[in-house]
Amino acid sequence: MTSIAEKYRHVCQQIEQAATQAHRSPDEVLLLAVSKTRSSAEVLALHQLGQRDFGENYLQEALDKIDALNDQAIVWHFIGPIQSNKTRPIAERFAWVHSVDREKIARRLSEQRPADAAPLNICLQVNISEEESKSGCLPSELPALIDAVKALPGIRLRGLMAIPAATDDPAEQRAALHAMQQLFQAAKTQVPDLDTLSMGMSGDMEEAVAQGATIVRIGTALFGPRNYANN
Ligand SMILES: *Cc1c(COP(=O)(O)O)cnc(C)c1O
Repeated sequence: MTSIAEKYRHVCQQIEQAATQAHRSPDEVLLLAVSKTRSSAEVLALHQLGQRDFGENYLQEALDKIDALNDQAIVWHFIGPIQSNKTRPIAERFAWVHSVDREKIARRLSEQRPADAAPLNICLQVNISEEESKSGCLPSELPALIDAVKALPGIRLRGLMAIPAATDDPAEQRAALHAMQQLFQAAKTQVPDLDTLSMGMSGDMEEAVAQGATIVRIGTALFGPRNYANN
């Protein structure tokens, strides 16, 4: 068994190496630790090793951990599917939301963000592999969605997020990540200060960094296989 400290060091090294190989500064790539199904104690252990940003998919599970770790300087990101009747706690308790894929959700988050909080950082999720019944707007819908949400108060549009279809074919993997890079460049012509491309998971983080990712979302490589008993 490899300890969490060793896994953490290894993932940080992988990101650094991938950035260096891509002639990018490692500082341009933020590691988001995806802690779904992991306990508060595991999150705390990783936080105490220096990890600041944590991503959660399931709202109730996330809120329990946010409450349990209330006194820690953790930055919480919501990365899971969003039901429109569950936006309020997301607007109130998170710093980032990566999985906004329709105007209605963005409007609700905007209205429900507390007035005394900094704007909620938002990424628009794109269904880059155009999979049936997957979250995310279609690439063709993205320009209109950007226009609809870019000026909403209470939120700050930071960039794009994607979960490309799982594949064993490196060329197909690279093509999807590259398509996201191009969509991101196009989006910046609409909103020049976009700075976030959230893509890359345990299986494709190196290629994602090569294709311009600024946030990689890593679960398994940090924590081991998901522990659904905790969920
Ligand atoms: C679970 C999950 C991850 C992490 O995936 P791993 O393959 O375990 O690194 C990243 N992003 C999202 C949206 C997820 O749901």
